[in-house]
Amino acid sequence: MSGLVLVINSGSSSIKYELVDVARECAVASGIVERIGEPQGRLTHAYDGRTSEWNGEVADHTQALTMAYRMFAETGLDLDEAGVAAVGHRLVHGGKVFTQPTLITPEVVETIERLADLAPLHNPANIIGIEVAQEHFPDVPHVGVFDTGFFHTLPPAAAAYAIDADVAERYGVQRYGFHGTSHKYVSERAARLLGRPCEDVDSIVLHLGNGASASAVRGGRAVETSMGLTPLEGLVMGTRSGDIDPGVLLHLGRHAGMDIADIDELLNRRSGLKGLSGVNDFRAVTERREAGDERAALAYDVYVHRLRKYVGAYMAVLGRVDAIAFTAGVGENSASVREDALAGLEGFGIEVDPAANRARGGGERVISTAASKTAVLVVPTDEELAIAKAAWEFV
Ligand code: AMP
Repeated sequence: MSGLVLVINSGSSSIKYELVDVARECAVASGIVERIGEPQGRLTHAYDGRTSEWNGEVADHTQALTMAYRMFAETGLDLDEAGVAAVGHRLVHGGKVFTQPTLITPEVVETIERLADLAPLHNPANIIGIEVAQEHFPDVPHVGVFDTGFFHTLPPAAAAYAIDADVAERYGVQRYGFHGTSHKYVSERAARLLGRPCEDVDSIVLHLGNGASASAVRGGRAVETSMGLTPLEGLVMGTRSGDIDPGVLLHLGRHAGMDIADIDELLNRRSGLKGLSGVNDFRAVTERREAGDERAALAYDVYVHRLRKYVGAYMAVLGRVDAIAFTAGVGENSASVREDALAGLEGFGIEVDPAANRARGGGERVISTAASKTAVLVVPTDEELAIAKAAWEFV
């Protein structure tokens, strides 16, 4: 049987996919269909060192996946002949129900639908992805891997919000955490990079992408994370505010005439780096900052300051930290963020080696000095590989 798993990440207006060779731990082909439902849709597909692009209207998710399927064949890899052994689905919110990768059955789909109140943007789009993929691949296992899954081990003190307990219980208001697949993968790779079993390693994982989150992991189990009921809490992100005094919402509601939809839009789409500097892409913020733009400089400072606060907080939560691992677009690529976030922490046993930090080249690497008690690492995340491996277990 082939070791090929198709990983699907179905969002409200896009579907990302990757065909993973589990045995070789690598992507065979990958692509994305964007702007589904709009006149200017786009399919980008990469296979065998070549990138193919198609532009035009993509009516819905069914058409999107059909086109991707066809694109595989047209570019020389027929999925029917290749033998896809399983399909892994990235699913956002598993609530308290789904703590592990789960074989998707009609009952599971019903439960994910029920949890849509907690993730109104994501869970319905995830379900469409499942239904469409099941039409194309009716005879292989479909496995759901939940973004919240890794954080089901958060102790009650970290998971609970200090609000009326009855209200919290009735409406499922608690901290769930997100990006779990990445935090789990990176914490495990970090332990391996240190040459120690996962159970013996306590780490802080900093997933800094467009969305950003931090976690504290003790012996392979998550004990704290920065995202909460939704992926809005915590670090400064591309367009999301992260932590904010809830009183700000009340203030804006009372004095700025904003309703819930306005505040939702403000905090999710017009805040974070974009709100502070006008651009959400970290590279653009960096370029503007280097060109002397004061708003971009403040955005950078707020971003790094928040990150330092979380590192400090999680050092206190863990008590002992063997590794701090940076991952995702910013974490893997921005030497200055890594350096600035951890500068001056030698007294706490954290010492970044400037040359190692600035050295070119990707891959997993240690960027702390030999004297540093806590190892500082760069660990590229690979959520698709983690999802593919989880799905493969069911084959
Ligand atoms: P991700 O969501 O993991 O794809 O990360 C996207 C973010 O990573 C964007 O804000 C990018 O600007 C940022 N990023 C990507 N490459 C670099 C780089 N070389 N330096 C700084 N930021 C980067």
